[in-house]
Amino acid sequence: MKFSTKIIHAGQEPDKATGAVVVPIYQTSTYKQEEVNVHNGFEYSRTGNPTRQALEESLAALENGRFSLAFSSGLAAEHTVLSTLKPGDHVVAAEDMYGGTYRLFEQVFKPYGLQFSYVNGNTYDFEKAIKPETKLFWIESPTNPLLRIIDIASVSTIAHKNDIKVVVDNTFASPYFQQPLQLGADLVVHSTTKYIGGHSDLIGGALIVNDEEWYAKLKFLQNAIGAVPGAFDSWLMLRGIKTLSVRMYQHEKNALRIAEFLENHPAVSQVFYPGLSSNQFHTLAKQQMTGYGGMISFKLLNGDITKVNSFVKKLSIISLAESLGGVESLVCYPSSMTHGSIPEEQRNTIGVTKDLIRLSVGIEDVDDLIEDLSQSLNY
Ligand SMILES: *Cc1c(COP(=O)(O)O)cnc(C)c1O
Repeated sequence: MKFSTKIIHAGQEPDKATGAVVVPIYQTSTYKQEEVNVHNGFEYSRTGNPTRQALEESLAALENGRFSLAFSSGLAAEHTVLSTLKPGDHVVAAEDMYGGTYRLFEQVFKPYGLQFSYVNGNTYDFEKAIKPETKLFWIESPTNPLLRIIDIASVSTIAHKNDIKVVVDNTFASPYFQQPLQLGADLVVHSTTKYIGGHSDLIGGALIVNDEEWYAKLKFLQNAIGAVPGAFDSWLMLRGIKTLSVRMYQHEKNALRIAEFLENHPAVSQVFYPGLSSNQFHTLAKQQMTGYGGMISFKLLNGDITKVNSFVKKLSIISLAESLGGVESLVCYPSSMTHGSIPEEQRNTIGVTKDLIRLSVGIEDVDDLIEDLSQSLNY
């Protein structure tokens, strides 16, 4: 089955009990049992719920994986992955990452005895950072917010030679443009809040994995820790998934036009978008992705918080807000919003500087978006 058919049908077959074409919202916490120890697959909705199960089947199919687990947020999914480790275990992560992931590593799991190293993202840097205790490589690609591309296949090869597993946060690309398990990664993380939900109306997360033993551990922890999505949010995610292809197609088409517009604008000093042929990661992106996505970052010439503020105040269609991946265009100021939990010194080393703006390109008419950007860059 091709991707655009899977998003509509995989896991989303008509309901067995009623024939309902759309997966029903099974808004129940518990299930009647025929007798003690005899039930029809569901006991309690933290452990399992039919709407959530449909979502998990859908997500596994989209990533071409064997198993999937849904969570109440992206960070809840990440928390569950890290909970499979024990004190002393070591994780190597690419330094350009979502601020909340960094905060989870440094402020939640470090005090429990996990060790973290941060590297630039080249395969060689990952290899150099390996210690006897290294259990995981943690990658985002494209990275947040600088849209760097990490070579998932070559990092996975190095990892597997050293008995290390590779986690890829695939939130920015979405499975429409990139399927990390096919490139050799062991586990995919999603904040389904973003492109998978697609309408800025829910918070959710997911894991997709092929290894059965790791899946069993994660499934145990999903229930034991308990950060599961409710039936209604699971249904919203299923509803979002059905239009993933048409949305991603339009996000990218708009993003390409806008990236070119920004690249030629005198008030913009730098544009980060892997779809631009001038981008240093363009060739690698072309190799491992089937498209470049809808996220762009750019720097205002001599920009600082005052200039950024006068820019965002002039925008009339595009809103200043956290998050990304919805149908509406949003801008964000990473250094004090999404990446505010990373210390300033580290932010500057990575390149998340005070002139940087991140744009989540929506699916509005691109001419309106360019006009909005154009009148706002004229300060
Ligand atoms: C938003 C985001 C997360 C965290 O997900 P939540 O759903 O907000 O908990 C993780 N990784 C990336 C790349 C994100 O953009």
